[in-house]
Amino acid sequence: MSESAAVDPYALSRDELTALLADLDQPRYRADQLHAWLVRGIDDPQEMTDLPVALREQLAERFAPARPELVAHTVADDGHTHKLLLRYPDGEAIETVLMLYPKRATVCISTQAGCAMGCPFCATGQAGFRRQLTAGEVVRQVVVADAALRGGGIGDQQIPDGAPDHVTNVVFMGMGEPLANLSATLATVRWLHDPDGFNLSARGITVSTVGLVPGIRKLADLGLPLTLAVSLHAATDDLRDELVPVNVSHPLAELEATVREYRERTNRRVTIEWCLIGDVNDDDRQADELARIARRLRAHVNVIPMNPTPGVRWKEPSRGRTRAFVDRVRRGGVEITLRDTRGRDADAACGQLLATYTLGAGSRLPAAVGAADRVDLLQVPDGPRP
Ligand code: SF4
Repeated sequence: MSESAAVDPYALSRDELTALLADLDQPRYRADQLHAWLVRGIDDPQEMTDLPVALREQLAERFAPARPELVAHTVADDGHTHKLLLRYPDGEAIETVLMLYPKRATVCISTQAGCAMGCPFCATGQAGFRRQLTAGEVVRQVVVADAALRGGGIGDQQIPDGAPDHVTNVVFMGMGEPLANLSATLATVRWLHDPDGFNLSARGITVSTVGLVPGIRKLADLGLPLTLAVSLHAATDDLRDELVPVNVSHPLAELEATVREYRERTNRRVTIEWCLIGDVNDDDRQADELARIARRLRAHVNVIPMNPTPGVRWKEPSRGRTRAFVDRVRRGGVEITLRDTRGRDADAACGQLLATYTLGAGSRLPAAVGAADRVDLLQVPDGPRP
């Protein structure tokens, strides 16, 4: 490691932390002490009171300022859903959602600022791709949520009674395609699964993908029974080419074969995510084709009725169509769940908080939003609604 390189400590693996401390002529146990502070959400070396003062100063010189700032926060579901807009020091902003259930605290994290996959019904896809998040920036989203749970609140918002005091589940379902930022995704999974880190079981970690076949294979190489969630959204190539453009490169037959391979290698059931869009993918033909694919993969299907999204022309399905679609897939012999639209009033669909605030701030992307705009952002809790 070069002497002058400033690093985000959350971007370092255990081996790299050990190498950093060795570089400073420190014994190995110092790396363990440093790591323990980081897990507790402390990244300022001056607060690491069991480290020698001289080492704290050396670390302060080595660590880059990387802590994200909370620039917007919406709450829904009686305090059980918290949607956070976090801005990194370079001005990029991303979304993180904390969802609380009895005995479960799930964080939905982003892996990219924007997304290059271009799904036309998605607010994030509409805003385009800006940059990859580093592993440290992804891990820090979990750190922020974990600290909020331990501290009992976020800003002046309390965490409801009965919620866990730590993160129990993480889903890679926020902004971006996790398998298009594979190194950060895999590094974050290692942090989360590390018994001395967040100590999450592999089953408590869900990685979603729109179907990047090479990435699914790499994920299987980890040898962990992570839950793979495939965002299918269409069960025929003609429709999927339109809704999920990556399908042109990795069509359904190839995706299905790779998902089957993932299931066989990890012995873990996969889930199929289906964003139900009114008059687009809620018809009987799609239901029947979806049932066929899910049966062959022995996959569980989650149906999520589309949230109305600012600036996007697609609409939510009618209640009648939603019920008919779910019933038809179920009659096809598939386990299917109609998911609640958690945080609808907190803009909880992928990319929606960001879309709301950027539209409200004059369609500027977060990197262009200066400190003077911060107050405006916070004062526009609802923004334009469809
Ligand atoms: S749906 Fe997911 S993969 Fe598609 S554009 Fe949106 S964030 Fe990207």
